[in-house]
This record gives sequence, structure tokens and C-alpha cells, in this order.
Amino acid sequence: LRILGIETSCDETAASVVLRDEEGGGRILGDVVLSQLEEHSAYGGVVPEIAARAHVEALDTLIEEALLRAGVTLKDIDAIAATSGPGLIGGLIVGLMTGKAIARATGKPLYAVNHLEGHALTARLTDGLSFPYLMLLVSGGHTQLILVKGVGDYERWGTTIDDALGEAFDKTAKLLGLPYPGGPAVERAAARNGNPERFDFPRPLVGDARLDFSFSGLKTAVRQAAQSLEPVTEQDIADICASFQRAIARTLKDRVGRGLKRFTGEYQSVDRPALVVAGGVAANQTLRQTLQSLCDGQGFRFVAPPLQLCTDNAAMIAWAGAERLAAGLPADGLNVAPRSRWPLDSEAQALIGSGK
Ligand code: ATP
Ligand code: MG
Ligand code: FE
Repeated sequence: LRILGIETSCDETAASVVLRDEEGGGRILGDVVLSQLEEHSAYGGVVPEIAARAHVEALDTLIEEALLRAGVTLKDIDAIAATSGPGLIGGLIVGLMTGKAIARATGKPLYAVNHLEGHALTARLTDGLSFPYLMLLVSGGHTQLILVKGVGDYERWGTTIDDALGEAFDKTAKLLGLPYPGGPAVERAAARNGNPERFDFPRPLVGDARLDFSFSGLKTAVRQAAQSLEPVTEQDIADICASFQRAIARTLKDRVGRGLKRFTGEYQSVDRPALVVAGGVAANQTLRQTLQSLCDGQGFRFVAPPLQLCTDNAAMIAWAGAERLAAGLPADGLNVAPRSRWPLDSEAQALIGSGK
């Protein structure tokens, strides 16, 4: 099966062609991502209107380029997969409508893919993981611990009750006058001999029986620390960033560690369980080391797909479409609508449907 994937839910415009063989193995044939970082950096965050316009301008060319790199034409494609949520509605409309147009013109089936499902299934493309496994998604828009039971079968075990982890990095960087995106800037500053012991930043929800996350208090604590120091030196910034990363590492250790325990409790027959990390924050070395040692300690395999597949891309969307097709799940009608909010697990979807 060859699937064309389209991703436009946030600030990356992406197109990809992915192959899925009969044994369930996958191979990326062509993959292009255009980041809009420069368009948004002056504003210190993603501006939805600018993002939507940039998708319109770039998407056609990117699809041509992905097909070209894969050495195929639309005739060779078995289905089209386009992200239809969750995300910024303007961008979603651009990608989904393009997918619909191609499906209509070629008569091929269309899969309207949940962006989170793309992240959740990537480890099967890169590492051939089998179900069930746990996934920690840490990006600018999401912080979730998800049980991946099968294609289309997910349970959300934990989510952030306020800021996403990437958002916490971005806001902290802004407070300290560091450039956007904040994650890499904070990590670099901390690496300049930052003292992680200097500030005792809060670790919200640590010890809580549920598996949720909370990061907004951290940002407030950073602001207070910075204000108490005026004028703030380079060394202060390094120390704040190192202490900030340390608080996050401790929080994740507790929250994710609890999730691993729950997994081993529920799936005693899985002999080598796995934790997969996804999302842009997965680039962070402190976070990786924390998760690696956590997994080592609890008998888990730690799977971190290559970074360009952890951040937003279209290969994961094409792959999710391929998995749905191979699992016999029905394609979507051309009347399918984009959804800015679209939780992955069916329980949460039912709640939204009931108006709660
Ligand atoms: P979505 O949440 O919709 O998937 P996004 O564009 O917000 O999309 P990604 O592109 O996956 O998310 O990741 C971007 C986030 O990752 C930003 O918040 C950025 O600060 C953070 N990030 C990137 N590199 C690092 C790093 N080295 N350390 C910490 N955070 C990082
Ligand atoms: Mg992004
Ligand atoms: Fe994403």
C-alpha cells in the first residue's frame, strides 16, 4: 500500500508518501516538511492566520515534491490521508480540502486522520512495535500519556490540566528574554554551567494518584525568581533554566513512572513493555535521560523515534492512514469536517458529544 499524507494542523506544512507492506512493515518513500518558524518567531508564537496562509502557499508544491522524491505519481497511490484535527482550524481546512480535492479527482479513498493518532502510531513505522504500548506526547500543544491498544483503540491516561510542556518551555524562555522557540534556548542556557540545585521550583501533582500533568505554576515561579534577582545575570539565567529542567525531570519521573506501574499491573503478560516518546520536547536531552533511566529501572524499552518524526510531519499521517486501511477501517466521506478539538480516546469523544 502506498499512501499520500498531508499535515497542516499547526506551523509545519508537510507531505509524504509512505509504503506499508503486507507484513505490516513500513518505509518512507518521500517526505518533505516546511517549517514556518521564521514567519512566527517575530511574534513569539504561532499566529493562526499567518499559518493558514502559509499552508495555502506551500502545500501544492510540497505534495509534488513528496511524490517526486518517492518516484511515484498520484496513479500509484492507494489512498490519501490528511490531518483533520486537532489543531488550528484555518490550517486544518487547507490540508483537508486539498486531500478531498485529490481524492475526488483521482477516485481514491480519503482518510481524515487524527494528528494524535499519527504521533501514537509512528513507533510502529520506525521500530515495528506491537500493541499494546505507552506513549508520552510532549509538544507545544499537547502533554498526554496515552495507552495505545490497537489501530483506532486508545486510552488517554493523563493530560495537562493547564500548559503543555513545550508551552512551559516557550513561556519561560520569553520571561527570561530568550529567543523563540523556547525549548532549545532554555536547554542551551542550562548547558552553560547552570546550577540545577539553585532554585527549588514547584513540582505540581507529584504524588497525585491520577496521571495528569500541570506546568503553569512553574512559569509563575520562574517569573518570581527572575523578579527577585533584578538585574538578572547570564549565570542567573543559566541557573534558572537548569533548575527549571530539573523540576520537569522530577515531575515526569513521578507522573510517567506511575503510568509505567499501571501498565505493568494491567498487562502482566507483556514481557518487554515499551514507552514511546513523541513531540518536539522529545529533543530535550535532560528529558530523554530521565525517561531512559526511568524505563531501565522498571524493565521498559525506551523508544525515541528520530527527531524529525517526533515533531510534526506528514509521514506519520500517511502511516496512520495506511494502518487504518490495512486494519479494514472505513475511509471517510468527502463531507468529513475538520475538528479543532478532537480527543484521541473514544471515551473523551463521547463526553464531548454529550455536551459535557
Ligand atoms: P502540536 O502540539 O500541535 O503537535 P507543536 O508545533 O506545538 O505542535 P512540536 O513542533 O512537536 O509541537 O514541538 C514544538 C515544541 O517543542 C515547542 O514548544 C518547543 O519549544 C519544544 N522544543 C523543541 N526543542 C526542544 C528542546 N530541546 N527542549 C525542550 N523543548 C523543546
Ligand atoms: Mg510545530
Ligand atoms: Fe504534533
